[in-house]
Amino acid sequence: MNDISHITKKFGDLSLWQDGPAFWVSKPGQGLPLLKKLPQFTVRAIGHSAGKREIIAIESGEREELDATMDNLHSAIASKLVPPDPTDIYPGTFYGTKRRRKPVIAIQGGIHGSELTGTVAGFNLLQVIATGQDLRGKPWPRLAELARATRIVFLPWLNPDGVARFPLECTSGVPSELEQLLTHGVLADGTPFKYPENKRYFPIPPEKVAFMGCYFNDAGVNLQYDFTSVRRQPETEAWMSYYLRERPDGILICHCNFGTMIDLPEYYVPVGYQQIVSRLGGAVRSRLLREGYEIGRTSWGLMPGLGKPFLSQIGATYHVCGGAAFLCEFPAGVKEFFFTPDQMLDIGLLTLEEVFSFAHRDGFRPYELWDKVKKMLG
Ligand SMILES: [Zn+2]
Repeated sequence: MNDISHITKKFGDLSLWQDGPAFWVSKPGQGLPLLKKLPQFTVRAIGHSAGKREIIAIESGEREELDATMDNLHSAIASKLVPPDPTDIYPGTFYGTKRRRKPVIAIQGGIHGSELTGTVAGFNLLQVIATGQDLRGKPWPRLAELARATRIVFLPWLNPDGVARFPLECTSGVPSELEQLLTHGVLADGTPFKYPENKRYFPIPPEKVAFMGCYFNDAGVNLQYDFTSVRRQPETEAWMSYYLRERPDGILICHCNFGTMIDLPEYYVPVGYQQIVSRLGGAVRSRLLREGYEIGRTSWGLMPGLGKPFLSQIGATYHVCGGAAFLCEFPAGVKEFFFTPDQMLDIGLLTLEEVFSFAHRDGFRPYELWDKVKKMLG
């Protein structure tokens, strides 16, 4: 499962890509020592992977307790028949009867173990909260102000098995064929598994591969679709329990491709939530264009699968915890769609600034006016 000889035969020694710049904190080897220097954040073990690796969440900002009395969103919504009001979708039994003052935002990284640009942005965000500057020393005053007024829960590596298998630190400049082989894996005879056809297998049988792609946990499961399994993986149980504990208003789910950024809304979430995702996508795209980054365009034509009625971890997150979940495909910076690590970090932090700005300005509940709620809270 860890045999990369088919890959090194083709691409040679991978050491060229095994060191990133000091600010590129993508894996536990750099992230855990950094956390020791940032004692103001709470580090919580929230579960473990199929390969028995710990899953952690890093928490910033005071937790405001909710007086929710149950954990099933849909039972709570269905608990009232009259008056018929399709916008009455925030039952107090599930969301609590009192509103929190701070938005709660989850940042979820590394469900696919080779897609770590969002995780790097998350660690730099912690440094911005602590010092006002990222790990390069660049100041982010607005981001610092917004983030300090937010409860943030950051899961850097939801799939620690895949992260542990990933032999590179930074994908900037890496040939995309190499990045794809490491992400999707190689069969015992050297045949590469390819996206998206490899989704025909669930799980990927560990005994059939020479190298299990970093997409998958040690049981060969793509956690993106585990939600509907009869017996779920421990990683899925971990995020479900933790998101129910926190009930975040918004969940930024970090993946990587060539930088299509905020993805299309999913089919099986309420229309209002679909619209939130589109509006946030527009805000992020406009900001990146203003800052000189010509990325962040995605369309139904480009990703035809997304118009189909299927459910992934993004939509599932709403159904479990009732928050607005959005996928962001940050750039991996591969050779064919190149970005420097510096540019990728800027894109990551600009995106986070827009997400927090949206949370404070508009809120992530599409069926209410957040401004009015804020006035009521005083
Ligand atoms: Zn992904």
